[in-house]
Amino acid sequence: MKSVLRLFFLFLGISLIFVACKDDDADENPVDPTAENKKALGTSAEDLLSDDIYTKLRVELVSTASFQPDAASIQAFRNFIEERVFKPGGIQFIERQIPDQAGAPFTLDEIKDFEEEFRTQYTVGNDIAVYIFFSNGSSSNDTQSTVTLGTAYRNTSIVIYQKTLEIITQSEPQLLPLLEQTTLEHEFGHIFGLVNLQNDDIHSVHEDPNSAKHCVVEECLMYFDATNVGRSQLTRLFAKGAVPPLDPLCIADLQAKGGK
Ligand SMILES: [Zn+2]
Ligand SMILES: [Zn+2]
Repeated sequence: MKSVLRLFFLFLGISLIFVACKDDDADENPVDPTAENKKALGTSAEDLLSDDIYTKLRVELVSTASFQPDAASIQAFRNFIEERVFKPGGIQFIERQIPDQAGAPFTLDEIKDFEEEFRTQYTVGNDIAVYIFFSNGSSSNDTQSTVTLGTAYRNTSIVIYQKTLEIITQSEPQLLPLLEQTTLEHEFGHIFGLVNLQNDDIHSVHEDPNSAKHCVVEECLMYFDATNVGRSQLTRLFAKGAVPPLDPLCIADLQAKGGK
């Protein structure tokens, strides 16, 4: 018994030394404080939905001088998030404005450069942060027949092509809030991991074989693909006059990852 105890203390001593060494190393090479926010799309689904690790959610909304989202759209978007996540510490929206950025249309690399320069909210402690940029320029991927309304490009990063949304709804500006909300909620659905983004959804059968990482259910929010929107899709959305809700299969996926 005695020797077992001695062995135990010896082992404890070794682990303490090991831990101390590890800390020293950390001081010499400080970890990138933004590293938690530079992961692949869909990998933070559980962290965003549940309160297992992160009890609070901060959403930083960065818009430019010329293009800002409608306040009612932001409120509706907030309600959408509140309906799905467990965050007993609350959800905080931080709205900021920056000057219009030059050089549009923007490549995704340029959008990432803006994030590097202008994002101020990062995941820290029990507090997870999401960044959304409302771009004053369109996407460089746009063609004559299709446009990109928004893109979720990292675990907690989204761009909304606000100028594109405003151009599309120019003749019917009353449709702008509908397009804003649909795009915001759809892209947030992607950072929630929909559909089957990390190939780990329990209902993976509802991933659309014709549109990867989107939902096969036509009435669902995640059916609408905001990255390659053509005229017919827009006409359909506008004819409905309402933001498509998540269908029961997508909601079940979120619940399986700790969401409501
Ligand atoms: Zn999409
Ligand atoms: Zn769905």
